[in-house]
Amino acid sequence: MKFYSTNSKHSKVSFKVATMQGLPKDNGLYMPEYIPDCTSIIKGISSLSLQDISFLIAEKYLSEDFSNADIEQIVDSSITFSAPIVKLDNSYILELFHGPTLAFKDFGASFMARTFEKLVVNNNKHLNILVATSGDTGSAVANGFYGVEGINVIILYPSNKISKIQEKQISTLDKNIYSLEVDGTFDDCQKLVKQAFLNDEINTSILLSSANSINISRLIPQSFYYFYAYSQLQEKNPVIFSVPSGNFGNLTAGVFSKYMGLPIKKFIAATNFNDTVPRFLKTGLYNPKPSIETMSNAMDVGNPSNMRRILDVYKDLELLRNDISSWSFDDNQTKEQILNTIEKDNYILDPHSAVALLGVNKFLKDNKTNNPSIFLGTAHPSKFSDVIEPMINTSIKIPSRLKNMINKEKRSIKINNDFKDFSDYLLSNFK
Ligand SMILES: *Cc1c(COP(=O)(O)O)cnc(C)c1O
Repeated sequence: MKFYSTNSKHSKVSFKVATMQGLPKDNGLYMPEYIPDCTSIIKGISSLSLQDISFLIAEKYLSEDFSNADIEQIVDSSITFSAPIVKLDNSYILELFHGPTLAFKDFGASFMARTFEKLVVNNNKHLNILVATSGDTGSAVANGFYGVEGINVIILYPSNKISKIQEKQISTLDKNIYSLEVDGTFDDCQKLVKQAFLNDEINTSILLSSANSINISRLIPQSFYYFYAYSQLQEKNPVIFSVPSGNFGNLTAGVFSKYMGLPIKKFIAATNFNDTVPRFLKTGLYNPKPSIETMSNAMDVGNPSNMRRILDVYKDLELLRNDISSWSFDDNQTKEQILNTIEKDNYILDPHSAVALLGVNKFLKDNKTNNPSIFLGTAHPSKFSDVIEPMINTSIKIPSRLKNMINKEKRSIKINNDFKDFSDYLLSNFK
């Protein structure tokens, strides 16, 4: 399997190159040259474990670059936690928060870290991974790479725009993890990272790579749990998946899964008030806006990068509309949903998962269907206890893997939203 850039289909690279580069030189995004047929997995899927499914899918993308033994090691050392579906009132939640940082980004981040680990063996130069985060990416990547030999991770996060717990998870790690608190928004952080990748002075002296959802090695493992969710259903009817979306990596992995052969009837791309994609589906005009702060802050993205991949799959707007519905919900609706779900199901949703359930509920209200609906539960509610607890007047139990981090000292360095500052920092510390 080779990978092309969304900006030039003709020059193809290997998985290794696509992973190490992160972003193609022409500023496009890497795409697999074809989406592999995985229908053979579907037949006996109920008897497969998440790890079995992960291996069978990973092998389709990685087999030109790695031996089966290597692929098995990558899967077994990264997919170490589960992704159960839990039945609520009218749909299932796919719980993707059983990993080390309690968010779905652990899947992509730990798979990518183990892939990189295989790739830098025998490298005499350190690899430096740049990550812009709106909260969860940074912590997942930092934890995925913590202590991995030969690799530094440099994380940029927007000052005062992520939760206290997220900041702790990003800024308290030592060893090979470095964090920068940027006086700006997530989009500013993302822009600084993109500028660094396009800057000649930096690239001639520092070996850079990325770990955002733009990296293809993060996207591939996100398909694993769509298949695993389906495997857990009793009745194997095509599924309606609701995906709480920010940078649209998760939805892209869902679209890949559908093209791999997973029976999916419909996607719901549920967003918070940042409604660039819902507006696009409605009007046909792609008109990104600066991001707006909401309580589901990991989805505060004004110009979602992965839409270019989705548009690369769906060349036609009508085909896209046929497969994907997209709606935006505000913070009041999100709060109401959290309270309703506690009342109805005795289940505490985090704000991101609540947005996804709002999407399911809107779909079920507008459409009669017997197909099962599954919404992606992307974070554990305790990560957002500062917004949820005041609403519900009870404290949320914090899993022990999160508790350990809370008492540690913040180590991040503050920088301005200025490329010169960022570039000076990189050149003086990592050359
Ligand atoms: C990142 C994130 C999202 C959005 O996922 P994308 O792939 O960027 O669309 C949703 N929920 C949580 C908790 C996240 O961390």
